[in-house]
Amino acid sequence: MRKLPLVIILLLLLIIILPALVVRGCRNEATEPPPAVDRAPIESPAGEITLQVFNHHLDEVQTMTLEEYLVGVVAAEMPASFDIEALKAQAVVARTYTVNQMLSFGGKGCDKHGQTVDICTNFAHCQAWESEEESLNRWPQDEGPGYLNKIRQAVRETAGEVALHNNELIDAVFHAHCGGQTENSEDVWTTALAYLRGVDCPYCEGTRWSETEHVFSSEQFAQKLLPYVSAVPVSSTGRPLLDAATRTSSGRVLQLSVAGEAVSGRDIRTALGLPSTNFTWQATEDQIIFTNKGYGHGVGLCQYGADGKAKAGNNYKEIIEYFYTDVTVDTLSP
Ligand SMILES: [Zn+2]
Ligand SMILES: [Zn+2]
Repeated sequence: MRKLPLVIILLLLLIIILPALVVRGCRNEATEPPPAVDRAPIESPAGEITLQVFNHHLDEVQTMTLEEYLVGVVAAEMPASFDIEALKAQAVVARTYTVNQMLSFGGKGCDKHGQTVDICTNFAHCQAWESEEESLNRWPQDEGPGYLNKIRQAVRETAGEVALHNNELIDAVFHAHCGGQTENSEDVWTTALAYLRGVDCPYCEGTRWSETEHVFSSEQFAQKLLPYVSAVPVSSTGRPLLDAATRTSSGRVLQLSVAGEAVSGRDIRTALGLPSTNFTWQATEDQIIFTNKGYGHGVGLCQYGADGKAKAGNNYKEIIEYFYTDVTVDTLSP
């Protein structure tokens, strides 16, 4: 008999309190706020380095520490959803590029916005950069703080580190997607650099820019190519005239013949807005279909490849040492 109240209490517990707890638990989970952004200053073993950044959106020069500036560069240059090791590789690449250009390190600075500016935020001139606010506005709301923490972690865990060849800062060029093989520097520009050699890249296979198709009608094709040739680049029947391409060792088009005239692969890419110069085509009577591999010039680090290589278990140093030949990652000496 004395046990009855206890049983009733236990039953009550089970019936009322337990479900209430479960519901509360669920509700807490559903409305759980995103993590707080960790804005602790990023310390660098290379010491605090500041630079003058021309913000082309605000039209003003801003003084930033190198590491805080790099958070905005990595955010602007690489998808934040990429693996942390890929983001760290991007941080080292961006730091190397930035220091190379800084006046205090003997660089040429940004020659567009006055004599004391190290770099500008215009990607077409120097290097892309966005403010924390711009990043958070661009990312999905529930992902934003997590993305920002991940990027700050990538910069913090590589703070002060740069990529060197023979103890000198490299020209740390990169591109979005190589399409399977990166390119020798002299096949895109003029100088052959020992650390910018083409390498096989199976790591970007099967991602966004691996293979894309671009279809143009004969009229569109003629109109877009006309600025690059003296004659209308279609036959009397309207068939697009495109012939015999010379290619680099990686398969990118160096030059091809349009209506009998030589046009560079780069001009074709610009004229048609193709993602890269790595393309083949098929012309029918009234249209031309381009099949394109990759996105960008193809030299140096392949960003999608960096993500793929990170997901295959490699760290940022292994990624950098793979895409740049005979290069080491080391702390910047002041
Ligand atoms: Zn600039
Ligand atoms: Zn690649």
